[in-house]
Amino acid sequence: MRAIRLLLSITIVVSLSHLVLGRAPASPPEETNDARLKDADAAVLVQRFEQWTTTELRKMDPVGELYLQPDNGDKATDSYSWGRVVSTPENEKERRKTADPLPSHVEELLSPDPQFDARHYVLRFIRHDSVNGIPVSIYETHSRGDYDGFEGQVALDRQGFVWRYIGSRRAVDSLLSKWSGHWRKRRFVYSGWRARLRGGSLYTTDVFIQETPGLNSPPQFSRRGRMRLWNFGKTRAEQARAELQVVDDNERPLGGRSSEENERQWMRDVEDYVLDVLTRDGYLAPEGTFETSCAQVISNLLAVARFPEPIDPPVRCRVLLSSRLDLRLLGHTMLISIGSLDTAGDEATVATILAHGLAEMATKPLPITAKVAFAKRPPLELLAALETKPSDEEAVDKAALALLSKSLYRSKLEQAGLFLDGINDVSPRLSTLVPRTFAGHIGDTAGVLRQSEWMRQRPVYDPMRLGHFSALPLGSRMALNRETNQVDLLRAPLVPLVGKSFGVVPPYPYPNDAEVNAPLVSRVGSD
Ligand SMILES: [Zn+2]
Repeated sequence: MRAIRLLLSITIVVSLSHLVLGRAPASPPEETNDARLKDADAAVLVQRFEQWTTTELRKMDPVGELYLQPDNGDKATDSYSWGRVVSTPENEKERRKTADPLPSHVEELLSPDPQFDARHYVLRFIRHDSVNGIPVSIYETHSRGDYDGFEGQVALDRQGFVWRYIGSRRAVDSLLSKWSGHWRKRRFVYSGWRARLRGGSLYTTDVFIQETPGLNSPPQFSRRGRMRLWNFGKTRAEQARAELQVVDDNERPLGGRSSEENERQWMRDVEDYVLDVLTRDGYLAPEGTFETSCAQVISNLLAVARFPEPIDPPVRCRVLLSSRLDLRLLGHTMLISIGSLDTAGDEATVATILAHGLAEMATKPLPITAKVAFAKRPPLELLAALETKPSDEEAVDKAALALLSKSLYRSKLEQAGLFLDGINDVSPRLSTLVPRTFAGHIGDTAGVLRQSEWMRQRPVYDPMRLGHFSALPLGSRMALNRETNQVDLLRAPLVPLVGKSFGVVPPYPYPNDAEVNAPLVSRVGSD
């Protein structure tokens, strides 16, 4: 009888909220009022939740990146991929065309076990805790009998939501070992954080990965990685409709102007087209407040430049959502990655990176590549087409130095010099995070900038010295809204960590940062 009454009240609540909200609320299994669940009931709740959240995820089209960083002195490869996370037949086609695609079944990392079945698990309550201010119960989770499942902990709230999980699973070990090019299976611990996005559903937005060292590994061994997801603002259906609009929007006729003006307008049209594709597909942040600060840096540099002719169309800046260090030129639009902005220790360092881009535009005006002009190509192919091999970099660096030495940044360039030292030092080891294409352009390999009077006085580069750093760890400066893909500077203190320049640190994401209007941002967590 009690069960029937409970069912009835759930039905009423559900139909009421349906009326109020105009649509069925995204809700996982029914609420429980017991302060303490029976361990067996907790297992059933986790099963229902994981099945529900896996289904919810497949309605969405998140973009994600996966990065695994080798340890100091370790010969393991540096592995990075990004792209669409949920595999569908179309995505698979796109993945096959990409040079380094996300591994298939990467979704395994987004759950303790996407096929979580309560019959295969034993849960044991350990303690009460909180995740992002939400009270949760932490359960130790083991697989039963021969089942090769998740071994670790899950954080379950009273409504049956799993907010966090940390542990290991064979399927994840195989996936990461294979993807990072290991023949023998490595063991990993992975930890996922979830956030309430898109009208109430819960999605995994951040995963921290740490390799479990073998017995013969050095004691300080700390191979780490992370996965980050965004683009939760649109469902898969909405994303598909948005893609179709791109081509329609841009078929504008030209005319009534001089041929030179038309040429410039054509260039801007091509830039806008590529920016639209990259933004709508979730690889580029939409224009927002951050671009204004970036534009300020550019105008600080150009204010004193004595270019024979002004750069026209005017220079713009947009943010690529990748943690990989990147600066690409799309005509007169600079695409700078979150990774570059994150790791650059101060504004003068950001200015040094952007000065290189401006110097490229001034010294070797590149015609915008026909490969990207209104071509229907997957976004990662468009991006690849914008990559240029370093050439005649000394001349570019001289032009960059001319800009910097007249700018308001000139007295603050020592940190930037250390950043350039760092780029040259880590690029061979972190060959996907700091690829040669980036180091060859930005790294000042000939020392034009670093031997100049503005950088010469910098401290001697020593990545292990206390209080001394060349770059910040990943995730230090930039906040990313996981629904809108907007970026902004994080209002958290900048904390350089010894030996962690360009390093991976555990993200401790927290929701509702009103200032950046972000449902979820990442900040540095020290370990
Ligand atoms: Zn260059």
